[in-house]
Amino acid sequence: MVTADSKSTIEQSALSALKGRIPLIGLTGGIGSGKTAVSDLLTQLGAGIVDTDLIAHQITAPHGSAIALIEKQFGADFITTDGALNRDKMRSLVFATPEARKSLEAITHPLIRQETTKQALQLSEEGAPYLVFVVPLLIESGSWQNLIDLLVVVDCPQETQIQRVMQRSNLSREEVEQILAAQASRQERLKHADMVIENQGSPKQLEVEVQNLHQKILRFQKDRLSSS
Ligand code: ATP
Repeated sequence: MVTADSKSTIEQSALSALKGRIPLIGLTGGIGSGKTAVSDLLTQLGAGIVDTDLIAHQITAPHGSAIALIEKQFGADFITTDGALNRDKMRSLVFATPEARKSLEAITHPLIRQETTKQALQLSEEGAPYLVFVVPLLIESGSWQNLIDLLVVVDCPQETQIQRVMQRSNLSREEVEQILAAQASRQERLKHADMVIENQGSPKQLEVEVQNLHQKILRFQKDRLSSS
């Protein structure tokens, strides 16, 4: 019988099978640091991007694969009339109740892992020169460090993060600060980084940083192949 646990092990081993064949890059950074901006630029350079945040949104969008399970576990109140997760209601619940967060993650994490593996294998088959896994809480989760070859951290001052997030959402300064406090600190993230993308300048400067990153990853693979 394939249980949820054995299935996730199968998926992890499917991902591990890619290790050594093409570079597996983890891309992380705090809220509003610029992960999406970086991954969009990397896409233009031909990288294979697997955005786990996007996958998390898709599975909880109208009639996404997590919806029926969430409704069964938490009740119809947590589902909007168009069949999506009621994010505001769920956010309040999981902020107040750690057990509810665990129950939600027990539903979403296996589905995210499954889709992550599927997309990674597909991008690899399509000939992507390397894969970038965008994982907002990569440092916090701990489960990615063994899989990836290089960890890239997008970094900018905390005040810049706050300003950017307030500008693009309805969140107040206090709400953004609350989210920041629940994430790994800037120092903690930088401590684990193999490469850092400084994103405190203009979008043009970011483009140059990302082009340098792209070249470094290609060089990493070239060096690895020539030394094997
Ligand atoms: P989240 O963690 O919330 O998903 P993120 O790390 O993916 O955020 P982005 O969405 O890429 O961050 O960037 C946050 C906001 O800041 C966006 O509105 C983006 O357009 C803007 N932004 C990112 N980098 C820069 C930059 N160098 N200059 C100006 N604005 C920027």
